[in-house]
Amino acid sequence: MGSRDEEVTAELPAAFWERLESWVEPHRLPGVRDSFAQPKRVAFRVNRLSAEPGPVAAELERAGLELRPLPWLAEGFHVADTQRELLTRHPLVELGQIYIHNPSSMLTTLVLAPQPGETVMDLAAAPGGKTLHMAAQMRGEGFLSAVEPVQSRFYKLKDNLRRGGASFVRTYQLDGRQVPRKTGPRFDRILLDAPCSGEARFHTSDPTAHQHWGTRKIRECRGKQAGLIQAAWESLRPGGRLLYCTCSFAPEENEGVVANLLKQMPGPATVVSIDLPIENWQPGLSQWQGESFPEELAGCRRILPDELHDGLFMALLEKA
Ligand code: SAM
Repeated sequence: MGSRDEEVTAELPAAFWERLESWVEPHRLPGVRDSFAQPKRVAFRVNRLSAEPGPVAAELERAGLELRPLPWLAEGFHVADTQRELLTRHPLVELGQIYIHNPSSMLTTLVLAPQPGETVMDLAAAPGGKTLHMAAQMRGEGFLSAVEPVQSRFYKLKDNLRRGGASFVRTYQLDGRQVPRKTGPRFDRILLDAPCSGEARFHTSDPTAHQHWGTRKIRECRGKQAGLIQAAWESLRPGGRLLYCTCSFAPEENEGVVANLLKQMPGPATVVSIDLPIENWQPGLSQWQGESFPEELAGCRRILPDELHDGLFMALLEKA
């Protein structure tokens, strides 16, 4: 190992690196390792509820920003890390016309694909980046509910939705596990971007992100995720789709949670294989540290982190 590797391992927990090495394909490992110490490009989405990509891009370029478009999303762009401040302080952010958003997060809306007129729920919504993107994708038509139990985060969610002109979204300050009792199985599509150990947010420049990380934290998250995915599943109408995602790499929080749901719902729950317009991903694992997962979990995707994308796990489930 070179000195740069030693520097990186010195800052993030050794157990974290060991776990990564146990599942990342060997030829991808150097890039993945580097991503935890690299400056990241800053991506954003033009909010199509209140603006159009062309004029917004022109205005930002006049302000000196050097935009690169995302090839798979007309309203998605990114800039170099050195332009972070210029972008995040631009008045269009405060006006809600642009939303700083990682491309991996934008992909969740493409994968779940909520349609205008549908009944949709974001079961763990704050601060609301994905809710806002779904609201724009639905063109403000239909029923979109956003659930968040933590008060300060709930207010942040409401604020972001107001700023983004998504007043048709109904917000509920509620534990997501209580939802099916109140609604029954009525939703066409549900996003569960579950609370997790946050491994994909780790970076050597921010020691606070991994301060409380460990197997205990992962186990704790898995318990909560199991309750939430069950609630999401019970709230889904037959034929509906649920996208489960986390910003953790841990198989316990990902394949483990989905496999457990499939075991409880044999038959009605099927895994839909996800197509992504990017290259840096791996299929869901078939086994990890002695635990085997159902073959169909190969249809799940784990986006690998690089200078543009955050890591993200996604599983798309359909109710028969
Ligand atoms: N989807 C959001 C976005 O893109 O802006 C990020 C969601 S974040 C990963 C997970 C959220 O779940 C947090 O805001 C957390 O407070 C919330 N949460 C925690 N426990 C929950 C529960 N029991 N039910 C619903 N949400 C919960």
